[in-house]
Amino acid sequence: MKRDNKDVSYADVIVDISHESVDRPFTYRIPDALRGKLETGMSVLIPFGRGDKLRQGYVTAFRDSISFEESKVKEIADIAETDTAVDAILVRLAGWIRQQYGSTMIAALKTVLPAKQKKQNLEKKQICRRISGEEAKALADRCAEKRRPAMARLLLALAGQERLPMELVRKKLHISPSTINSLEKQGAISVETLRIYRNPVKDSAGAAAEKNTFGKNRPVLSRDQQKIVESVLQDYDRGVRKTYLIHGITGSGKTEVYMNLIEGCLARGRQAIVLIPEIALTYQTVVRFMRRFGDRVSVLHSGLSAGEKYDQCERAKNGDIDVIIGPRSALFTPFARVGLIIIDEEHEPSYKSETMPKYHARETAVYLASLHRASVVLGSATPSLESYYRAKQGEYGFFYLGERLTGNVLPQVYPVDLRRELREGNRSIFSRRLQELMEDRLEKGQQIMLFLNRRGLAGFVSCRNCGHVMKCPHCSVSLSEHKNGKLVCHYCGYEEPAVKVCPVCSSRYILGFKAGTEAVEEKLHQMYPGARVLRMDGDTTKKKDSYEKILSAFADGEADILLGTQMIVKGHDFPAVTLVGILAADMSLFAGDYRAAERTFQLLTQAAGRAGRGDMPGEVVIQTYQPEHYSIVHASSQDYEGFYEEEILYREIGLYPPAAHMLAVLVTGKEQEAAKNLAKELADMARRREERSRLSVLGPGEAFLSKLNDSYRYIFYMKSGDEKVLAKLRDEMEDHIQTLQNRSEQVQFDVDPIHGY
Ligand code: ADP
Ligand code: ZN
Ligand code: ZN
Repeated sequence: MKRDNKDVSYADVIVDISHESVDRPFTYRIPDALRGKLETGMSVLIPFGRGDKLRQGYVTAFRDSISFEESKVKEIADIAETDTAVDAILVRLAGWIRQQYGSTMIAALKTVLPAKQKKQNLEKKQICRRISGEEAKALADRCAEKRRPAMARLLLALAGQERLPMELVRKKLHISPSTINSLEKQGAISVETLRIYRNPVKDSAGAAAEKNTFGKNRPVLSRDQQKIVESVLQDYDRGVRKTYLIHGITGSGKTEVYMNLIEGCLARGRQAIVLIPEIALTYQTVVRFMRRFGDRVSVLHSGLSAGEKYDQCERAKNGDIDVIIGPRSALFTPFARVGLIIIDEEHEPSYKSETMPKYHARETAVYLASLHRASVVLGSATPSLESYYRAKQGEYGFFYLGERLTGNVLPQVYPVDLRRELREGNRSIFSRRLQELMEDRLEKGQQIMLFLNRRGLAGFVSCRNCGHVMKCPHCSVSLSEHKNGKLVCHYCGYEEPAVKVCPVCSSRYILGFKAGTEAVEEKLHQMYPGARVLRMDGDTTKKKDSYEKILSAFADGEADILLGTQMIVKGHDFPAVTLVGILAADMSLFAGDYRAAERTFQLLTQAAGRAGRGDMPGEVVIQTYQPEHYSIVHASSQDYEGFYEEEILYREIGLYPPAAHMLAVLVTGKEQEAAKNLAKELADMARRREERSRLSVLGPGEAFLSKLNDSYRYIFYMKSGDEKVLAKLRDEMEDHIQTLQNRSEQVQFDVDPIHGY
């Protein structure tokens, strides 16, 4: 298959994407007149089916040659009129995703066109009165006289009400179809069929939306909030479309700004997409949108049934709703008139897809907005380095909201040096300061949150005495301890044997960092037998709704301590929490990838922001072996700018995104040697370019998860200042992979990776 469209002779075309033929593109010849003019995603007219009727299709790929008889190939008739239909936009988006992130066009199409599976429409019948209420009453009397009690019953019920649901009439009033029939014949009633949509917003949010406080309880915007809303809408009205970043501390009123912007967008006859990191954790936000926008808003996420998803897409297409809220996939809602895309908590890693194509919702949103001529608004208390960098370069508009609108102050933060605790004889996971403050809160009956920011891949080795962390001499990321005891670099594959004594201070307290929430919970029970502890982690939240249950139990004061992983730093506001303890800030600091410091700063800042949300001031204890590390220093003083300045320097020196681009290639396979060899072959391909293309190649090496589901995993990385160099190389590798016979290995590409391997 070819990427370059200039000299190719054939194109694959998908004929009708509204059916299930997405998996079956057909090959067509490109006539001379169209050579070089076609692009993937473009809409073309092609002869198809019996009688070769001209139909519209979408180009998905190009080819040099075909494996069947030339005479059997039909020719593309023409480029179709550019239509602005929703599907065309989504197909173009798929084309862009394919090109940007690498995958097949089919996989990209399946990503953007998720709810193709047609589901039966749901219908509801109603009985409608065709005569006046008075007439119905009179008729009911006559029916009663004629011993027609069922007819009388129905007419009486309808006297006070113009319509009744069929179900109620049949089941509650016990009226037979023949009775309904004969009243219908008399012209007294009629039966009507309504199309109803499956409504995914049933429980609390639905109830809230019904009580719909439309326009009520609406705060007057602060001057800073007002300025953002006005600037964005003024730009919009002047025809200026941009991406804006709102850096606003938690509680500074970002959500309120989003809602006002959406109102402005709706007033201009356009629709809005609101992305949130995860529905379960941001339910309160969803409810707020329901209250403000009533039934003009819906949600779209993976927890919905196929029927519910299908109906939301139908409603979006029909223009029945104007606002959609959901995680990254909600970006592909089939709206025809998008005017605004909002991404809340834009720094969250969940915006990056973990399956092919590994697209980032933020970048994809910016491209989608360009297709719709829409604006994009990003918001975060701890913006991603990418967005802040772009805002600084003037590529994004920028706003800052620095004050909590509820009047309460930011909490007092105490960094605690765990090395000193150990030297002074305290071997507990709780520092003396934290113990003291916990006892104080338990006594006062105030709530505590304890946070263990464990990352899936944390496996670093550090010295408990001096804080020294074992790092890769080539990549300045921490080495990870593998099962065999060896220390391995995730990026370049560098290895060294396990260490027994600290190379800096010769202490024997140099070990892998492992501590689980379960162990901490046990400790809490030992130390404070009377305290009620709730634990929230991967294990306790497997079941549906369990997040919500744990969080609301804590909100209702059913526990004194909420202990959990990073999932507890989002979601609910807990006004009674006055103490937040971060047990081991270092856990994410040395997660072995270039984003570790950024993630740590974000988690610490967000966790600290949980304290003192109510009337009582809050305190935060950050326990660490590295109190001097810049991400901990700046998180303690809640200084984003200070953190950014140091972090961007590290990225610039190390050639990491956003200062440069990075492409990860993961090769997996059941046979270890074959997977390893393919990774090596591909990396060598890149190495041959190294000098000419200002490119650096790292690896390959075993991935941190070196074996998963019986597959061996090898990874290598490439870095370059020029995105195009990496894209070209990726295309060449994809082409090369296509030519390999009997290959069973899988190859995945990841541009500017966020998740570890
Ligand atoms: P963020 O999204 O930045 O965390 P929110 O929009 O949720 O901030 O606002 C935090 C709190 O402040 C909410 O309770 C919200 O109702 C309230 N709030 C927002 N804007 C105003 C305002 N202009 N005046 C008074 N209260 C406000
Ligand atoms: Zn040491
Ligand atoms: Zn390395």
